[in-house]
This record gives sequence, C-alpha cells and structure tokens, in this order.
Amino acid sequence: MAFFISEDAKDLLKDLHTFCENEMRSQVYEAEKAGFKGDPAGEEIIQGIMDGLQEMGIGTLPVPEEKGGPGLSKMDRAALMEEIAKYDAGITAAFMVNEVALDSVEIAGTEEQKDRCYDILLNGGYGCFCLTEPNAGCDVSGAVTTAVKDGDEYVLNGTKCFITNGPIGDFYVIYAVTDKSVPVAKGGYTAFLIEKGTPGLSVGSVEDKMGIRHSHTSDIVLEDCRVPASAVLGEVGQGFQIAMKTLDISRTWIGIASLGIAQRAIDESVSYLKQRVQFGKPLAKNEVLQFKIADMQMKTEAARQVCAYALSLMDRGEPYSVASAEAKCLASDAAMYCSTEAVQIHGGYGYSREYPVEKLMRDAKIHQIFEGTNEIQRLVIGKATIGKI
Ligand SMILES: Cc1cc2nc3c(=O)[nH]c(=O)nc-3n(C[C@H](O)[C@H](O)[C@H](O)COP(=O)(O)OP(=O)(O)OC[C@H]3O[C@@H](n4cnc5c(N)ncnc54)[C@H](O)[C@@H]3O)c2cc1C
Repeated sequence: MAFFISEDAKDLLKDLHTFCENEMRSQVYEAEKAGFKGDPAGEEIIQGIMDGLQEMGIGTLPVPEEKGGPGLSKMDRAALMEEIAKYDAGITAAFMVNEVALDSVEIAGTEEQKDRCYDILLNGGYGCFCLTEPNAGCDVSGAVTTAVKDGDEYVLNGTKCFITNGPIGDFYVIYAVTDKSVPVAKGGYTAFLIEKGTPGLSVGSVEDKMGIRHSHTSDIVLEDCRVPASAVLGEVGQGFQIAMKTLDISRTWIGIASLGIAQRAIDESVSYLKQRVQFGKPLAKNEVLQFKIADMQMKTEAARQVCAYALSLMDRGEPYSVASAEAKCLASDAAMYCSTEAVQIHGGYGYSREYPVEKLMRDAKIHQIFEGTNEIQRLVIGKATIGKI
C-alpha cells in the first residue's frame, strides 16, 4: 500500500480493484480500438464503466461527509484515484476534474452554490473548470471571454477551449473578463458558476486527442449567455486568484493520476520481463533491464512521497503551493519516463497496440501539459527556491 489510508478507504479500494480488473482492464482497449474506427460502440463501453464507477460512489468522493459524501480524506481519495488511473487515465480525468471544478466553488462560493454542486455530484453529474482560451494558455492574461454587467445580470461571450468534461458537464466554472481596463491578474477577471442548459452556453468542437481518449474534451462556447449576478463566485474581480488557488490544489491530483500510469508501466514491464525469453533465459535475468525497473521504481516512489507530502500539507491547512507544483512535475515526468521505458522493455511489441504500454505512453504525455505545463511548474519552483533577486 503506497499511501497510508483509512480502513474505509481500504475496503473501497479492494472493491474498486475488483471492478477495474473485471470491468476496465480489457474493455478500455476495446473501446479505444472501436473509437479509432469511428465505431460508437466504444462510447457505450466507456459510458458503462463510468456508470459503474458512479454506482460505487467515486463521483461523490469530493463531497464533504456532512453534505452526503463518504467522508474520506484527500489521502484516501488519492489512493482510489491512482487505482483508476492504472487502468485508464482518461476516465480518471473525468472524476479528477469534478474535484477541480468543485475546488473553485469551495474556495469562493456561497453555501448555496456549494450545495448545488454537491447535489449535482451526488446525483452522478460532472463539473468543468473553464480557464483556457485559444490565446490564453500558460498566459491567462490573454483571456478575451467577457462578462458584461447588464442590470442584475451578466452577459458572457467568448470561447473556452480544451475543456475536460465539456460535452458531459452539468456545472461549469467559467472565468471571464469583467473589467478590460484592469489586468486579468489585478482584478479584471471574475469566476462564474453556470449550469448545463443555460441559454447561450453550448458545447463546441470536440478534440480528437493523442491520448486520454476516454476523456471528453471540447470547446465551451458562450454566446450572449445571460446569468444572474448571483452566478458570480466570490467577489467580482477575484477570478485570477480563485483560478490560481484552484490550480495549486489540482496539480497534486494530476500527480496522483500520473502515479497510476507510472505504476502500471512498472507492473506491465515486470510481468513481460518474466515471461519473455531471449538468449535462452527470461529477460528479467538481464541486469541492464533490472536497472531500468529500478530507475522506474525509484522515480515513481519518490514522486508518490512528494504527492503524499503535498496532500498532507493540504489536510493540515499548511502552505502547499510549491509542494503541489513539485508533486505534479515529478509524477508526470515519472509517468512519461516509465511509460517510455515500458515501451522500450517490450521491444517491438511495445510499439504494437497488442500490448497496453503504447497507450500508457500516449496517456502520460498530457500530464506534463495540463493544469500548468511542467515548464510553468519549474518556473514556480525555481522562483520560490531562489526567492528575491
Ligand atoms: C486534453 C486536455 C485537457 C485540458 N483540460 C483543461 C480544462 O479542463 N480546463 C482548462 O481550463 N484547460 C484545460 N486544458 C488546457 C491546458 O491547461 C493548456 O493546454 C495548458 O495550460 C498549456 O496552454 P497552451 O496549450 O495554450 O500552451 P502555450 O501556453 O501556448 O505553451 C506552449 C509551450 O510554451 C511553453 N511556455 C509558455 N510560456 C512559457 C514561459 N513563460 N516560460 C517557459 N515556457 C513557456 C509551455 O510550457 C509549452 O511547452 C487542457 C488541455 C488538454 C490538451
């Protein structure tokens, strides 16, 4: 057991493992193959898996106990998320982004806004965190989506892109410019909580991605989307700060999903090395390949400890911003390293869709990109370490 978790979480983890082995292990590959051929059967398989996970209460994990959630700590939830990510990081992303969207609401929302989102999650719904725009990726200050005050309402216009859960979202946390005369980071940006079905909010083009193909990613288009002033999260002008606080938390979750990929890459590699015979002996007897496994194991375990450290800081209410950036960066680099080495260890078979490791490599890549690229994490860590110049 990598994380120290509660007895309740251990029980759920056991059931989750059985579910993943029986309902996900082979099915996610079948679904992907169908998807590559444009066969909608793949979508049905994934929907079935997500429904099964919802039945187990995975979607309700971030809801506080007093509001009807299972009352598990962040550490407990991390162990569960890592388990799902071992089988499919795309499906994991759907549940992780629920946490991310909810974090923005919990950071700044009213009790009524929080309760509404808890209700949605308790009923198997999904949340979206809508920050990125075509010209505002790493540099959020490039945002041009606007929210203009009109009486007691705001009218939103613009396009958010690369939105995880976009096509299946039930609530959307949307960041928009409310004052063009003030920089985004200094009071010009505001967060809004908007529900599915609000006129003027629609799902735009859906991304055809390299990896995490079972995650739904799309544009979210706002065309004269009119919402009451009560849709504002926190204060007008606080949007940038809310977004940054949200990302500080969510980065650790990207680290957790990355650990699942890295661990699966190790597990698949060990199993292959034991059964593949070359030069008259199993590959596992070859010291060069044992060293590869050692490096994969060390990087993954070190990253797991930093993720656990960041989570423990959050649970204790201590500053976690830099630890979270370190957790995301170390774990996603470990996932990329381990999955690439896993393909190498499998030789030509690793490059074939017959074995699962090429999917791990494709799925790993995005974890170095979203929730702030690893270049941005290194900027955060470097600046914090160097301090004032
Ligand atoms: C599958 C997927 C899901 C996503 N889900 C969401 C979501 O749910 N919500 C959401 O809001 N966004 C989401 N995103 C967007 C994601 O967070 C952005 O893609 C990411 O922040 C990078 O922005 P960009 O793609 O515009 O790259 P750019 O900002 O154009 O960066 C391009 C490259 O330049 C580097 N770079 C940029 N600035 C600097 C700098 N100052 N110093 C050094 N290097 C720099 C970057 O690290 C990167 O390597 C998702 C993206 C993908 C692909």
